[in-house]
Amino acid sequence: QAKARGRNGYQFYAASMSGDGVERLRMEGLLRRAIDKNEIYLAYQPQVEIDTGRLTGVEALVRWHSAELGQIGPCQFIPLAEDTGFIGQLGQWVLQEACRQMVAWEAQGLTMPKIAVNLSVRQFERGGMAAIVTEVLESTGLAPHRLQLEVTESIIMNTGDALQYVKDLHAIGVGLAIDDFGTGYSSLAYLKQLPVQTLKIDRSFIKDISQGPDDEAIAVAIIQLGKSMNLSVIAEGVERADQAAFLLRHGCNLAQGYLYGKPVAAGEILARWGGQG
Ligand code: C2E
Ligand code: MG
Ligand code: MG
Ligand code: MG
Repeated sequence: QAKARGRNGYQFYAASMSGDGVERLRMEGLLRRAIDKNEIYLAYQPQVEIDTGRLTGVEALVRWHSAELGQIGPCQFIPLAEDTGFIGQLGQWVLQEACRQMVAWEAQGLTMPKIAVNLSVRQFERGGMAAIVTEVLESTGLAPHRLQLEVTESIIMNTGDALQYVKDLHAIGVGLAIDDFGTGYSSLAYLKQLPVQTLKIDRSFIKDISQGPDDEAIAVAIIQLGKSMNLSVIAEGVERADQAAFLLRHGCNLAQGYLYGKPVAAGEILARWGGQG
């Protein structure tokens, strides 16, 4: 066994010195400078009412276009930022920029009802998010109820003081949503204690609607759960009209997905949704 461990240890060492490790180190270095180089920006994806098509908000999604590496997806650089501790700075930038954009749209004649911003586990578990959010709201002048923070179930379950942190954020008046709902392991008893307003049904359960009875059952169960707890429920990753029809039929009238719009630049949101009151 010791031998096996030794071999694994060696393999780990070897891997960390291989091309992947070097590439990762390079990416880390570039990411640290990306904000100052204006390579980080936000894309906004509409959230709509299925029956009326009315816009209820947008989710802000962070993007990185590196001069050296090209376009890098958040699933690649968010974990990197979490590992290196850069996530604090990055997350704060995202929050500030999202709130600033809300105020900018307002000045351009678009009153966006709300903006959703994702929080990383590393931001959340550190504590002190409430102070950061307060400062960002004050500096941008955005009303708290127009900001919704998204945390995943796993963030909540893996953070010891999660309940207190969620309460602190709730006390400021911002909204809270549980992202990727259904993929984590939160107990319903615990969920009941959390002052959250929204459940986001994970895309994986929406994907196979009208193709798989199991996923349909899960989607319906989440909708029912949300209703019984007086929460609003929004479906992620709605791509087809049959999914939207299914959701509506089962009492979920909020959706986000390519059917309604991909994440786009702020200007495109203004062009499409501005001037509609
Ligand atoms: P998420 O918060 O669950 O965001 C939804 C993801 O699904 C986005 O991917 C979005 O572009 C994608 N999506 C939306 N509608 C559809 C659809 O109809 N079909 C398909 N196939 N995909 C759809 P994206 O932008 O690549 O972000 C991936 C994840 O990265 C996010 O998942 C979130 O966990 C994380 N992320 C993005 N921005 C931030 C951020 O500012 N901070 C943190 N901490 N995490 C972020
Ligand atoms: Mg999200
Ligand atoms: Mg999500
Ligand atoms: Mg998701």
